[in-house]
Amino acid sequence: MNLGIYIQVPFCQTKCTYCNFHTGVVSRARFAPYASAVQTEIREHKQRLAGAGVRLPARFASSIVDTVYFGGGTPSLLDPANLAVILEAVRETFPANFSEVTLEADPETVDARKAGAWIAAGIDRISFGVQSFSDLELKAAGRMHRRPDIYRAVPILRSAGIANISFDLIAGLPHQTQETWQNSIDELIALGPEHASIYLLEVDDGSRLGSEILCGGNRYSASAVPSDDQMADFYEHARTCLADSGYEQYEISNFAKPGFASHHNRKYWRREPYLGFGAGAHSFSGSQRWANAHEAAAYVHAIAAGSTAVEELENISAEQALDEELFLGLRQLEGIDLAHLERLYGASLESRFAPLEAAGLIKRSGSVVRLAPERLSVSNEAFVELMR
Ligand code: SF4
Repeated sequence: MNLGIYIQVPFCQTKCTYCNFHTGVVSRARFAPYASAVQTEIREHKQRLAGAGVRLPARFASSIVDTVYFGGGTPSLLDPANLAVILEAVRETFPANFSEVTLEADPETVDARKAGAWIAAGIDRISFGVQSFSDLELKAAGRMHRRPDIYRAVPILRSAGIANISFDLIAGLPHQTQETWQNSIDELIALGPEHASIYLLEVDDGSRLGSEILCGGNRYSASAVPSDDQMADFYEHARTCLADSGYEQYEISNFAKPGFASHHNRKYWRREPYLGFGAGAHSFSGSQRWANAHEAAAYVHAIAAGSTAVEELENISAEQALDEELFLGLRQLEGIDLAHLERLYGASLESRFAPLEAAGLIKRSGSVVRLAPERLSVSNEAFVELMR
């Protein structure tokens, strides 16, 4: 069995207006101590997790770590040496044979020295936070980069030898129009990343933009956010254009050229185990889920004090496990095999899926159920119906 490792780096240069993640803007002086704490947590994870009540399955001892994902935050802000020592800690702690090591990177943080050092450390995939090719949209969203930064960074990454790049785009940014969205999709396709993630802007009052949309105001361009219908159109348009350009959609938000679907992210949807390290990192063993303290200073303090950083721990019941199989599995376009799940969990699922089929939200092929392709932009409706 293979194991994924997630490393959370909760630092950013600024706070994007739509962001509700637990990330902070801190002095660079805090980066190296943070990386050091992550190394310690990796090397001593068995004792510390046992102290928190986590029961690591015996099979983990022989599991091979094949994927590592540095997410954030903006992990590309760290000095590459910090990333390299974290990867070294992974190699020295686990049986490792990496097939995919991803780093989330924002365009303005990329330079030739860093890119060379990333490759030398073993990073072979960049998840690139493009979000939009429109400077008006990037500025309104509080992003640090502008369109020229994207065009500066991509050749640097390619020259350094990165052969697997994913671009993120967000449908629904303030000031986005059909024309600017079309342009962003066209520019993405022209630059030819191996992978693309298309996210719909999520609105909740945990972000400044979300709060303005819900409560009013005019500081973050809330009135210039496209409507839900427009966002759904943007998403559908992206699906069509990406399919026409050789990208296969394999998950609600994810598209890849053949052979470039993310090995690491697939583990989440397939309920395969992963260990997360760093502030706010989540982990899943098969029977338990747990999460570290969100606040970076509290995390570093806990690790330095020799204690556990685990703040939440949940034992997964069979009922929850089945729900996860449905909600996570259905995100993948390959769908889920109801007959297999019924056998595995001794449950009957027919009554849960009949209303979804009647509403046209799913398609069946034998015992395999998939979200209806033409209803993917409203996949939440299917998940809400499943919960009834
Ligand atoms: S770069 Fe990402 S994590 Fe950081 S503030 Fe922006 S959206 Fe949030």
